[in-house]
Amino acid sequence: MQRRDFLKTSMALAAAAAMRGVTAQEKPSPRWYKGNIHCHSQWSDGKDLPEVTVNEYKKKGYQFFCLSDHNILQTDRLRFNGFAMDFTPKDLTPFEGKTSFWKRVAPSWGWPNLLEEDIKRAQDFFGADSVDIIDTAEGRYVRMKTFDELNAQFGEPGKFLMMPGFEMTAHFVHTNCVNVREDYFVEIDDDGQTDALLKKSADTAKQTYADYDQPWLFTVNHPQWQYYNIQPSSLISRPDLIQMELLNNGTGGPLCPDAWTPESFFDVVNAWRASHDQHLLMGTGTDDSHGCFRTDYLPFKAWQHVRCSELTPGAIFAAMNRGDSYCSNGIELEDLAFDGRTLQLRAVEGEGKYRIDFIGTKKDYDPTPKAYDVAASQGLRARQIESYSPQIGKVLATVEGREASYTLQADDLYVRARVYRLGENNDPVVRPESGLLDFAAWTQSYAPGQPLETF
Ligand SMILES: [Zn+2]
Ligand SMILES: [Zn+2]
Repeated sequence: MQRRDFLKTSMALAAAAAMRGVTAQEKPSPRWYKGNIHCHSQWSDGKDLPEVTVNEYKKKGYQFFCLSDHNILQTDRLRFNGFAMDFTPKDLTPFEGKTSFWKRVAPSWGWPNLLEEDIKRAQDFFGADSVDIIDTAEGRYVRMKTFDELNAQFGEPGKFLMMPGFEMTAHFVHTNCVNVREDYFVEIDDDGQTDALLKKSADTAKQTYADYDQPWLFTVNHPQWQYYNIQPSSLISRPDLIQMELLNNGTGGPLCPDAWTPESFFDVVNAWRASHDQHLLMGTGTDDSHGCFRTDYLPFKAWQHVRCSELTPGAIFAAMNRGDSYCSNGIELEDLAFDGRTLQLRAVEGEGKYRIDFIGTKKDYDPTPKAYDVAASQGLRARQIESYSPQIGKVLATVEGREASYTLQADDLYVRARVYRLGENNDPVVRPESGLLDFAAWTQSYAPGQPLETF
């Protein structure tokens, strides 16, 4: 899809959303909203009961949220099985007339178990009667609250927007469908080939929601997980896919920086797209949390800010698609503007010193990938992945401080910016396990002549 067609669709969605909400005269000015659209609960392999998960995000000031459990929507259909798990009892009598997903309590921790301590946490928060429990001869069963029940408990117009969704988990290709109420299934055949699975996931979503009456969003998740399974060429060959995770809890898998990092993945794809008049790839920031209280897996470590006039799925998705958003794991922006030539940003004042890099690729870059050998790891065999020219995603300018601007040169294909905190010796603050920036914000990429519209 060409960029102008996509913009038309985005603007139509935003206009429709605006008409559903408020009239033009009453429309408030755009503001930043913070959200997370990728997160798990006991509906699949997350540690917390769903109400505990949603409660924690709301308490922490998130304003839009999608509980995107693996291959399941939180509907009231009675079931006992889900993503790679089956708790179906032999005797169904105790569940006559019951609804939703019932999970059996396990004696000890292990993927993707529900424990007594998880029930107790929910009861501590919401009362002893808040959790629906049935003790049977085959074990203790716990009912998961549905999306509608969670939304009734936590959703607040203009303050906390909950969107139903799920993570389509097809072998190593994971994609999110947000604000949908119907799921689908992708057969894993073709030896689990990435491009085939990505095509099936994206095409099935488009077919399933072709006549959907609600705005919905499709994202490609964690590029380098599990071990470099999705390559930049996968997104170059699908210019219709607009959203991909730039931040997935900061890392989302082991890194081979000599091949590409999540950041340089975007540069490879966007250098190609900018030189072919295609819509640039936009980055999402999520923590993909599998438990709000786990110490072995840090939640709340990545999120996204989106600027729009109202807290509705249509307004949020339209802003994300036109690039009025940024990813963060610590720094907030108070200003972000691009007039078609100059990108400028200003971070909210915080502790310590900040630095801003402007990053881009020049028109004469070499787009040809080279083969890069990766050793066997994460249960995957040794193989070759793509490695790209260091001309792609170069730092064009660096400014010390929390405010800076960069004007595109005639030979620039696009520009993006990152702002990050400096620690001792003026070195960037990084996550020790990955070396990736730990207290930063990343803008989208912007191409010349295509100003960022804010509304
Ligand atoms: Zn995933
Ligand atoms: Zn996930």
